[in-house]
Amino acid sequence: MKYVLVAINLPVKNLFRQFIYGLPDSMGQAGEGWRVVVPFGPQKVEGFIVRDFDREEALALLQKENPGFSIDKMKEVTAVLGTRPWFSEKMMGTAKWLAGYYMCSLAEAMRLFIPGKTSIRRKPVYQEGRLIAYEIEERLKARTVVAYTITEMGKAALAEGSRRAKAQMQALEVLLHATEPLDRKEAEAQHISGAVLQTLAEKGWALRTEKRLLRNSYDRQAERKETLQLTEEQAQAVAAIKASLDYFPTGKPAEEEKDESGAAAFSGDAGKQKTETNCEKTRPQEFLLQGITGSGKTEVYLRAADHALRQGKQVLVLVPEIALTAQIVQRFQAWFGQEVAVAHSKLSQNERGDVWYKMRTGEANVLIGVRSAVFAPFKNLGLVMVDEEQETSYKQEERPAYHAREVARYRCKNSGAVLVLGSATPSLESYFRAVSGGIGHLQLKRRPGSSFLPAVDVVDMREELAQKNYSVISRKLRRELIATVHADQQAIVLLNRRGYSTFVMCRDCGETLTCPHCAVSLVFHADEQAMRCHYCGNTYPIPETCPHCGSRRIKFFGSGTQKAEQEISQMPGIQVLRMDQDSTATKMAHEEIIRRFSRKEANVLLGTQMVAKGHDIPDVTLVGILAADSTLNMPDFRASERGFSLLTQAAGRAGRGDKPGRVVLQTYDPENEIITLAAKQDYETFAGHELAMRKELLYPPYGEILKVTVVDKEEKKAWELADEMAQFLRSRYGAEHWERTEIMGPFPSGVAKVRDLYRINIVGKSRAMEQVKACLLASRYRTVKNVFFDVDPIMAI
Ligand code: ADP
Ligand code: ZN
Ligand code: ZN
Repeated sequence: MKYVLVAINLPVKNLFRQFIYGLPDSMGQAGEGWRVVVPFGPQKVEGFIVRDFDREEALALLQKENPGFSIDKMKEVTAVLGTRPWFSEKMMGTAKWLAGYYMCSLAEAMRLFIPGKTSIRRKPVYQEGRLIAYEIEERLKARTVVAYTITEMGKAALAEGSRRAKAQMQALEVLLHATEPLDRKEAEAQHISGAVLQTLAEKGWALRTEKRLLRNSYDRQAERKETLQLTEEQAQAVAAIKASLDYFPTGKPAEEEKDESGAAAFSGDAGKQKTETNCEKTRPQEFLLQGITGSGKTEVYLRAADHALRQGKQVLVLVPEIALTAQIVQRFQAWFGQEVAVAHSKLSQNERGDVWYKMRTGEANVLIGVRSAVFAPFKNLGLVMVDEEQETSYKQEERPAYHAREVARYRCKNSGAVLVLGSATPSLESYFRAVSGGIGHLQLKRRPGSSFLPAVDVVDMREELAQKNYSVISRKLRRELIATVHADQQAIVLLNRRGYSTFVMCRDCGETLTCPHCAVSLVFHADEQAMRCHYCGNTYPIPETCPHCGSRRIKFFGSGTQKAEQEISQMPGIQVLRMDQDSTATKMAHEEIIRRFSRKEANVLLGTQMVAKGHDIPDVTLVGILAADSTLNMPDFRASERGFSLLTQAAGRAGRGDKPGRVVLQTYDPENEIITLAAKQDYETFAGHELAMRKELLYPPYGEILKVTVVDKEEKKAWELADEMAQFLRSRYGAEHWERTEIMGPFPSGVAKVRDLYRINIVGKSRAMEQVKACLLASRYRTVKNVFFDVDPIMAI
């Protein structure tokens, strides 16, 4: 009997240790990376085998913990799931790294790799109406056939040979050489009867498993593949990526590849950077593909993918949100047809399982998906491309708070795959690595053909007020909107706030109405005639009198998409489509709205940030940006970066066809540097200034951040624990002399209460984050229930 170390797949935070079980000989084929069912307390649960050992090793380990331990009392694995290990060695490596880096348990990291997080279901068994037991059922299968594989015992029996059981020996011989489990039909084709297979299974020589039949869930409407003549810049980018693909044979991590230039080259001074691409000197394994909006990054992705496929490698394309990237999926399908599989959140568990299966077996070789697709199994991963790599949707907000780009980077490193990060406005972390020479820097500075970046007009909304225009829409934008639809062209209007009015306030006492469960203002929604909390989703009737002072003078302030919709739809000749979280939840999905807009069923598309991203509609010649300031005024270190990116992307929707585009950007702060730089699409200057500031304040990429959030129903308890932890960290910092480290807080989180839970933060900034994390992981705080670690958080507030 072998012994195995098993990580228990329960979503329990404090289950950091793994457990040893005996593995019966009949399950001898299982080992590292397999999924199993094990007894755990009174129940049966799923577990992942993390390693295996022989009797002596197991005994030594167990007796170290418990000297009197008798190995014969060892609990045994109940069943083996599947017919092969779920985790390849490389997936295991990634899971281990992820657990360490993001400070979670190994099981929490491993379950990310399982579609639906668990592969078993507990089915109640009743007898005479009484629940008597639970039966374990494997979830990740639906349509399957019974199939057989040879076991270790079977191999031994075959080696020994037997003259009497000739048919059985023949069958074993066939099973030994089969590349995958053999089902009855396949067996019969080789003159093996079902009865013989049955006997083999009874003797423990063959394992009865099930083989899946794949559902064909993705409807393919392959469009004609269109081959464009690449621009010079595109051709250079493609050549560099191809050279790296040729240089890194998959399966071999490129340890010998060192970062020759070092990260010190970039001084952080404003605007200073290397001008030429640095990929001529070395062959980087990672690239930043920085291309302005509409510069044709997709075309580069397609060529790179084509090259990888020709080399027999698989390709992963990560996109921020599948609904907004239908166009990328279509282009890939036009090129690669059946090779393309798509993974998005609307797939059922089983469909997702099928997609995973196709990648594992090589039945499909291009996977396009949202952040969780980074956990798919691959037969031979050779190229990963992350589109719009700066998007915050790549970061998971719950535990484990991983970032798909970082997981992708690790997977690429350990499997010798090439990583391409694409963006018009890269994250400062990626940009810094590119300009400091850590990774290859590919740039697309021009749009192909006759298409140019749009001209931008900045409108000062204070001036509008002075001229007694109290509308959300400036006079300039109003004129442009009417002229655009008059010329039979289309417009996109961005307003990054949902609802009708953004807050509701009492005129007499100034009290803002807030959600009683969350510490945020309520937003008035005209269609419901109610106030809604955007954190917990609850709605509340509008009070007749102020709950604070009793005044009847209640007023709505600010404006959201609903109000803008009302105003724009009253302009002559205009039909508006609204796209925000409210409209997509109740009426049509994003895709449907975009489709209707491209079919010109409406001439103005109005919405929150969703309208700013991804799509390419040739007749859009005008983009209006209302309240450009609103995204920039968040008290967070990444607010400028997010604001700049959003403004640039929104402006980039205009003039993508052969008609020139215009942008009208409304602001109360026209001198704001970020707004003027975004209007010029001057990323370099923006990044230079921003990096200099971050350097001074030890924000990424110069320091790493860890946000610790203490959550509790009782405010006092939350503060006590947070105070204690902050003190602990400060004392350890003093004692261990970590390289430049700052511990800030505790202070209430940006939203101090959500769904009745108080949230208190401690933020650590450090150039020695490894040590800070190690110190916390070695402390009792690692397993305290209501402490949440967020490594590299999106927001520090
Ligand atoms: P990005 O993702 O960089 O914003 P896209 O990949 O969506 O840009 O490309 C913008 C538009 O330019 C698309 O309509 C695309 O078909 C077109 N395009 C891309 N490359 C070329 C090329 N080499 N020649 C002509 N048109 C191109
Ligand atoms: Zn009042
Ligand atoms: Zn709420």
